[in-house]
Amino acid sequence: MKQPTTPSILVIYTGGTIGMIENPETGALENFDLAHFRRLVPELNRFNYDIDAITFDPPIDSSDMEPKYWIKLTRIISDHYADYDGFVVLHGTDTMAYTASALSFMLENLGKAVIITGSQLPIGQLRTDGKENLLTSIEIAAARDEYGLPMVPEVCIFFENRLMRGNRTTKINAEGFNAFRSYNLPPLARAGIHIKYESHLIRRPDSNKPFRPHFLMDNRVIILTLFPGIRREYIEALFHIADLRALILKTYGSGNAPQKPWLIERLKALRAKGVILVNITQCSQGAVEMRRYGTGLQLLQAGVVNGYDSTPESMVTKLMFLLGHNMPYEEIIRLMNTSIAGEITV
Ligand code: ASP
Repeated sequence: MKQPTTPSILVIYTGGTIGMIENPETGALENFDLAHFRRLVPELNRFNYDIDAITFDPPIDSSDMEPKYWIKLTRIISDHYADYDGFVVLHGTDTMAYTASALSFMLENLGKAVIITGSQLPIGQLRTDGKENLLTSIEIAAARDEYGLPMVPEVCIFFENRLMRGNRTTKINAEGFNAFRSYNLPPLARAGIHIKYESHLIRRPDSNKPFRPHFLMDNRVIILTLFPGIRREYIEALFHIADLRALILKTYGSGNAPQKPWLIERLKALRAKGVILVNITQCSQGAVEMRRYGTGLQLLQAGVVNGYDSTPESMVTKLMFLLGHNMPYEEIIRLMNTSIAGEITV
């Protein structure tokens, strides 16, 4: 029997650099195994927590991440929800921000921490960043506030020294250890000598409602980055995608697009076909404000929906989530204008 006071953490290894372990005989990189991890990171034993692990079989490089794996993660977390105090997901860095965003929508009214982390160097290598990332993530997943409730009942990414809301993060560095940023929301905590939590930023579940996992995603979504000189044929090609359901436009600055009559006309035609059009900015920081310039207003008039300060990762996964639930257009638009998991500043 587990002692009620001993925090219990489930570590889920999906794949990625952090869990790749060099076989001393062959030199090849092999995948995660908790017993081996405990030998490489003996500090794990000092936690006095019950730590169990589940490994994806086979583990995947996160470049191969797909909605079916988000469903699998949601299934693992919901099946074990009552048994653990918190969850740590080990994941490749490349698509970590997409997974964090997707899970933030799929794990509705989450009451426990789901901390996603990884590393730039495998955990067995000298100078690895994986050790600190893993240990601090476990500590955060187990942390409780003064009322004994989970300190961060959210899907987060912890990397280097920042704890960030998952659906606000983006990978910004292919090499450095400080590889993730949340440009439109300050970190929820910073790890130094102490872990300093920004309690006022942390979302809490509605205590009158249960935790509710969701398993439906619809990936008929496309993202188009505007650039000077964009050709009409590229927009035209979208009409050949028979079942396209949503187009995310990555526009300039505060949500602006070239003032080409054909562009606006084609967007209106897509809208008339039932495609949801959403405007997010190419800038890393700041929000879309379509009424600010005529170049943005024309999009609003063509039926384009405001994406506010959403990251691309969050917008893609939010649309997959909303479309997956077969809601009427008006309801999708209402939820697009609502922060459902702290993903936008409305
Ligand atoms: N390609 C790897 C992945 O995302 C890189 C990493 O683990 O950081 O799975």
